[in-house]
Formats: sequence, C-alpha cells, structure tokens
Amino acid sequence: MFERIRHAIEKVVRHPRRETIASRGLIQLVGAGPGDPELLTIKAFKALQRADVVLHDRLVGEGVLSLARRGAERIYVGKIGRGESTPQQAIEARMVAEALKGKRVVRLKGGDPFVFGRGGEELEAARAAGIPVEVIPGVSAALGAAAALQIPLTHRDHAQTLIFATGHCKEAGGLGAEPNLDWSTMADPRATLAIYMGIATAGIIAERLQAAGRDPATPVAIVENATLPNQRVVRTRLERMANDLTRSGIAGPALLLIGEAIESADGADFAAYAAATEKLD
Ligand code: SAH
Repeated sequence: MFERIRHAIEKVVRHPRRETIASRGLIQLVGAGPGDPELLTIKAFKALQRADVVLHDRLVGEGVLSLARRGAERIYVGKIGRGESTPQQAIEARMVAEALKGKRVVRLKGGDPFVFGRGGEELEAARAAGIPVEVIPGVSAALGAAAALQIPLTHRDHAQTLIFATGHCKEAGGLGAEPNLDWSTMADPRATLAIYMGIATAGIIAERLQAAGRDPATPVAIVENATLPNQRVVRTRLERMANDLTRSGIAGPALLLIGEAIESADGADFAAYAAATEKLD
C-alpha cells in the first residue's frame, strides 16, 4: 500500500502531468489542512504539483505552499493594502480569469474548502463561467486540533453530538456582535462544540451558553495555530473562558473546543479513556 502511494507521488514529482486542460482550464478547490503540511491529502499534493497558478489566503502557511510546483505562480488573496481583505468577488474573478487562459488553477484554502471557507461561492463562480471544477477535501481545523491535543470530540458516554459553529456574525455586522446560533441546541450537555472564528465573541458565546443551561464548569480547550510548531493551548472552563482567553493574549487563528469530552483529553485521563473505550468495544 505505502509502496504504491510512494510510487504515485514520485511519478508526479518527476513527471508532472502537463497535458493541456482543454482551453477552459481547470479550477481545483483544495483543502490545505490546518497547517502541518503532512496533513495534506495525496490528491491535494498532486494538485499542487501540477498547478499553474495557486491562489491562497492568510491561513495557508509557507510549509504547504512550498509543496507547489516550482514554476507555479502564487497569488496571495488574503489581506492587502492596509489590512483589508481581498473582496470575495475579486478572488473569484481572478480565479476564473486565470482558468479561462487555459491554466490549472488551485484555489488553496485553509482546512477544508467547504467548512466556513466560502468554497460554495467559489464553486458557483467556476460553474457559472463553465469551467471544470474539482473539490479536494482537507483536514478541518477542529479535527487537526483534536488529533494534535489528543482530545476525542465524541465519546460514547458523554458526547454523542458534534457541532461545528461559527462565532462570527455576518448579519449583525461588526466584529464581536452576537453570532446567530441556536443556543438551546448548543447547551445540550452531550454535545461537543467546535467554534471557529469565535475569539472576538467568546464572551457572548460563554454567556449565552450558560444562560441556555450549559454547565459553567464545562471543560474548554482554546487552541491557537493547531498542528503548527507555534501551537498554543489554554485549558479552562466555560465560566472562565473569556477571561482566560483575554489573559492568554491568544489572537488566532484559534478554535474554541467546548464539552465534557474535552475533559478526557491528554495525559493520564486520555489513557484511561482509551482503555475504557477498548473495554466497551
Ligand atoms: N476552512 C477552514 C476554516 C476557515 S474559517 C477549516 O476547515 O478549518 C477560519 C477559522 O478557522 C479561524 O478563525 C479559526 O477559528 C479556525 N482555524 C483555522 N486554522 C486553524 C488552526 N491551525 N488552529 C486553530 N484554528 C484554526
């Protein structure tokens, strides 16, 4: 199995497939994973090796970008000018324009392209322009963080539901505005919450969850730069989450992992958890 994978990779590295992609080019929406380049899929790696153009944003680090074909043009579509983001429409226009030149365009996105990544909008833009499009999944930040910290996100005894939510609120506008979430569902003591983009709204999130009945002592792990060498983790409880976050100076990208399953995380607890699950199986 590994031999076959190794051969496939070597073949691609030595002889990148350069056949012309019709005149319409090709767009690949590729998940770059949470940061550690080794978490790329082989499909993502192959796409990078064959790319003519790589459009990437802030979340994609040098480790992953360095795996792109040497001759590929890299275009940064994250922050520009005085820290403003490239408007989504401009990203889509550039992506489509490059593909219409007949190029293989890799739109490289942090984590998975379809998890809080506006991948759906980019897919629509490619389809509307009649360009063939492929989607290659990636390891989403919550999964990378869980593995790096050895935090099981589900647990037979106390976490049967896993909720991926965004702490960012589009409707109310403005950073720090209350996110539009279903607090009563999220207050279920058996649900693990993985909250993306929740740093600015951590205070409101903690307040609303407790008001909806979630135990103030619910375990929390705040994970910054998960899977990267500068990964940082703050372990806390729901009632202290916002305070501890402020004190830590964590600026993101960071995730809030909330739930009873987080308790059975690393060290001795995790070993005990693993042993217990084995017995149950
Ligand atoms: N498509 C991405 C999410 C993009 S939204 C994915 O599937 O992971 C951006 C948010 O993702 C950040 O605000 C942060 O909450 C989270 N995130 C991305 N990379 C991260 C990392 N390495 N560590 C912690 N959080 C991360």
